[in-house]
Amino acid sequence: MEAGRSTPVLFCYRKLWQCIDLLYPPACGGCGIPGSRWCDDCAKVTKILKEPLCPVCGLPMENGGTCNDCNNLGARNFTLRSWAVYEGPLRNAIHRIKYNHDIGLAENFVKYMIRGIETQGWKFDMVIPVPLNDKRMKERGYNQASLLAWPIASAFRSKFSPKALSRNRNTISQTKLDAESRRKNVKGAFQADHQLVQDRIILLVDDLATTCSTIDACSEALLLAGAKSVYAYTLARTL
Ligand SMILES: [Zn+2]
Ligand SMILES: [Zn+2]
Repeated sequence: MEAGRSTPVLFCYRKLWQCIDLLYPPACGGCGIPGSRWCDDCAKVTKILKEPLCPVCGLPMENGGTCNDCNNLGARNFTLRSWAVYEGPLRNAIHRIKYNHDIGLAENFVKYMIRGIETQGWKFDMVIPVPLNDKRMKERGYNQASLLAWPIASAFRSKFSPKALSRNRNTISQTKLDAESRRKNVKGAFQADHQLVQDRIILLVDDLATTCSTIDACSEALLLAGAKSVYAYTLARTL
């Protein structure tokens, strides 16, 4: 963790993973080479997202300004930024976090996300992971967004509130849907707890943003329930 953002809980969490790595040397989550969770070669080819970006959804914009999607869809009610582009080794790594229970790998990426959020200068007082649907939660046994969200909440001394947002219906997997179908699939699929989110400035956390339809639907539910405003940060972003 960043020195300025360390807390006793985070310090212990990091040390725990350092001990596990000593006992059971890890392989790189990007390329599989033994030695570290994330090797220098994979780090080098990862494309970190930098300005100029769409001010709303964080898509790279060569000449600045708002992207077509954000222009065409009217006022979107969130600000999204992501750490890096979803491709190559980072894509493999996210796959490992999601499907191979690689919790140590998630811990490895949190420090980059904390640094990225710090750069934005956002002030928020509650961190919420994007919820999984019940079926997938049962299959997987954990929500990968929570693995990223709770250390972020701890680092910024914000409330971690995984129960503040829930899915009120199961949606089908978004992976094979186009942008319009994704929007329809998740529209109205979330509900937020008014008691928990009222007057809060929220940071939503997820592993991946694709068309932003999920972030959009979460944000709508949070604002409807009385949240003041919504920021979102994801580990990766498809282009
Ligand atoms: Zn590697
Ligand atoms: Zn945009």
